Amino acid sequence: MDDDCIFCKIIAKELEADFVYEDSEIVAFKDIHPAAPVHLLVVPRKHISTLMDLQDDDVSLMGRLHGVVNDLARAFKLDKKGFRVVINCGKDAGQVVYHLHLHLMGGRPLLRDIAKGQGT
Ligand code: AMP
Ligand code: ZN
Repeated sequence: MDDDCIFCKIIAKELEADFVYEDSEIVAFKDIHPAAPVHLLVVPRKHISTLMDLQDDDVSLMGRLHGVVNDLARAFKLDKKGFRVVINCGKDAGQVVYHLHLHLMGGRPLLRDIAKGQGT
Protein backbone atom coordinates (compact mmCIF):
# COMPACT_ATOMS: atom_id res chain seq x y z
CA MET A 1 0.00 0.00 0.00
CA ASP A 2 1.13 3.51 -0.87
CA ASP A 3 0.05 5.81 1.98
CA ASP A 4 -0.38 8.76 -0.40
CA CYS A 5 -2.50 6.87 -2.93
CA ILE A 6 -6.23 7.52 -3.04
CA PHE A 7 -6.99 4.16 -4.68
CA CYS A 8 -4.94 2.28 -2.06
CA LYS A 9 -7.09 4.04 0.56
CA ILE A 10 -10.27 3.01 -1.26
CA ILE A 11 -9.02 -0.58 -1.48
CA ALA A 12 -8.19 -0.50 2.25
CA LYS A 13 -11.74 0.83 2.90
CA GLU A 14 -10.29 3.99 4.45
CA LEU A 15 -12.20 6.00 1.85
CA GLU A 16 -15.67 5.26 0.54
CA ALA A 17 -16.42 4.08 -2.96
CA ASP A 18 -19.33 2.43 -4.71
CA PHE A 19 -17.87 -1.06 -5.18
CA VAL A 20 -19.28 -3.29 -7.91
CA TYR A 21 -16.72 -6.10 -7.74
CA GLU A 22 -14.11 -7.47 -5.32
CA ASP A 23 -11.84 -10.49 -5.26
CA SER A 24 -8.46 -11.26 -3.73
CA GLU A 25 -6.53 -9.41 -6.46
CA ILE A 26 -8.93 -6.93 -8.06
CA VAL A 27 -11.63 -4.43 -7.12
CA ALA A 28 -13.96 -2.35 -9.26
CA PHE A 29 -15.95 0.72 -8.27
CA LYS A 30 -17.93 3.49 -9.93
CA ASP A 31 -15.99 6.52 -11.17
CA ILE A 32 -16.87 9.53 -9.02
CA HIS A 33 -17.15 11.74 -12.15
CA PRO A 34 -18.81 9.43 -14.66
CA ALA A 35 -18.28 10.32 -18.32
CA ALA A 36 -20.82 7.77 -19.51
CA PRO A 37 -23.93 6.11 -18.06
CA VAL A 38 -21.67 3.23 -17.00
CA HIS A 39 -18.17 4.31 -15.94
CA LEU A 40 -16.34 1.81 -13.77
CA LEU A 41 -12.73 1.65 -12.65
CA VAL A 42 -11.19 -1.82 -12.53
CA VAL A 43 -8.20 -1.73 -10.21
CA PRO A 44 -5.59 -4.22 -8.99
CA ARG A 45 -5.19 -4.29 -5.19
CA LYS A 46 -1.43 -4.20 -5.76
CA HIS A 47 -0.10 -0.65 -6.07
CA ILE A 48 1.37 -0.33 -9.56
CA SER A 49 1.82 3.36 -10.46
CA THR A 50 1.49 3.21 -14.23
CA LEU A 51 1.37 0.74 -17.08
CA MET A 52 5.11 1.35 -17.50
CA ASP A 53 5.72 0.01 -13.99
CA LEU A 54 4.37 -3.45 -14.79
CA GLN A 55 6.72 -6.28 -13.84
CA ASP A 56 7.03 -9.57 -15.70
CA ASP A 57 5.00 -11.36 -13.03
CA ASP A 58 2.12 -8.88 -13.42
CA VAL A 59 1.25 -10.23 -16.87
CA SER A 60 -1.32 -12.71 -15.57
CA LEU A 61 -2.83 -9.95 -13.41
CA MET A 62 -3.32 -7.83 -16.54
CA GLY A 63 -5.11 -10.75 -18.14
CA ARG A 64 -7.34 -11.14 -15.09
CA LEU A 65 -8.17 -7.39 -15.11
CA HIS A 66 -9.50 -7.81 -18.64
CA GLY A 67 -11.45 -10.87 -17.55
CA VAL A 68 -13.13 -8.78 -14.84
CA VAL A 69 -13.88 -6.07 -17.44
CA ASN A 70 -15.52 -8.75 -19.55
CA ASP A 71 -17.65 -9.99 -16.61
CA LEU A 72 -18.66 -6.44 -15.64
CA ALA A 73 -19.51 -5.53 -19.23
CA ARG A 74 -21.94 -8.44 -19.24
CA ALA A 75 -23.30 -7.63 -15.76
CA PHE A 76 -23.93 -4.00 -16.75
CA LYS A 77 -25.45 -5.06 -20.09
CA LEU A 78 -22.78 -3.42 -22.25
CA ASP A 79 -21.75 -6.60 -24.01
CA LYS A 80 -24.19 -6.38 -26.93
CA LYS A 81 -23.84 -2.67 -27.80
CA GLY A 82 -20.18 -2.32 -26.92
CA PHE A 83 -18.03 -0.32 -24.57
CA ARG A 84 -14.61 1.27 -24.25
CA VAL A 85 -11.66 0.29 -22.05
CA VAL A 86 -9.00 2.94 -21.39
CA ILE A 87 -5.73 3.01 -19.49
CA ASN A 88 -4.20 6.47 -19.16
CA CYS A 89 -0.43 6.31 -18.73
CA GLY A 90 1.45 9.38 -17.57
CA LYS A 91 1.25 13.10 -18.05
CA ASP A 92 0.33 13.44 -21.70
CA ALA A 93 -2.51 10.95 -21.26
CA GLY A 94 -3.77 13.06 -18.37
CA GLN A 95 -3.32 10.32 -15.78
CA VAL A 96 -4.52 11.78 -12.48
CA VAL A 97 -4.41 8.82 -10.12
CA TYR A 98 -1.07 7.03 -10.18
CA HIS A 99 -2.41 3.60 -9.29
CA LEU A 100 -2.99 1.51 -12.41
CA HIS A 101 -6.67 1.28 -13.38
CA LEU A 102 -8.82 0.42 -16.37
CA HIS A 103 -11.73 2.68 -17.24
CA LEU A 104 -14.75 0.72 -18.45
CA MET A 105 -17.22 3.07 -20.14
CA GLY A 106 -20.43 2.48 -22.01
CA GLY A 107 -24.16 2.89 -22.09
CA ARG A 108 -24.20 5.47 -24.89
CA PRO A 109 -22.41 5.96 -28.21
CA LEU A 110 -18.90 7.21 -27.40
CA LEU A 111 -17.12 9.77 -29.56
CA ARG A 112 -14.16 8.38 -31.44
CA ASP A 113 -11.75 10.88 -29.90
CA ILE A 114 -12.65 10.27 -26.28
CA ALA A 115 -9.53 9.11 -24.56
CA LYS A 116 -10.21 9.79 -20.91
CA GLY A 117 -13.96 9.54 -21.10
CA GLN A 118 -14.19 13.29 -20.71
CA GLY A 119 -15.52 15.86 -23.15
CA THR A 120 -18.73 14.26 -24.25
P1 AMP B 1 -7.05 8.84 -14.71
O1 AMP B 1 -7.06 10.15 -15.43
O2 AMP B 1 -7.01 7.68 -15.66
O3 AMP B 1 -5.97 8.78 -13.65
O4 AMP B 1 -8.46 8.75 -14.03
C1 AMP B 1 -8.69 8.78 -12.66
C2 AMP B 1 -10.18 8.62 -12.47
O5 AMP B 1 -10.43 8.40 -11.09
C3 AMP B 1 -11.00 9.86 -12.88
O6 AMP B 1 -11.94 9.47 -13.87
C4 AMP B 1 -11.67 10.28 -11.57
O7 AMP B 1 -12.99 10.74 -11.78
C5 AMP B 1 -11.64 9.00 -10.77
N1 AMP B 1 -11.62 9.20 -9.33
C6 AMP B 1 -10.82 10.03 -8.62
N2 AMP B 1 -11.08 9.92 -7.30
C7 AMP B 1 -12.07 9.01 -7.19
C8 AMP B 1 -12.78 8.47 -6.07
N3 AMP B 1 -12.52 8.86 -4.81
N4 AMP B 1 -13.74 7.55 -6.30
C9 AMP B 1 -14.01 7.16 -7.58
N5 AMP B 1 -13.37 7.63 -8.66
C10 AMP B 1 -12.42 8.55 -8.47
ZN1 ZN C 1 -2.20 2.75 -4.80
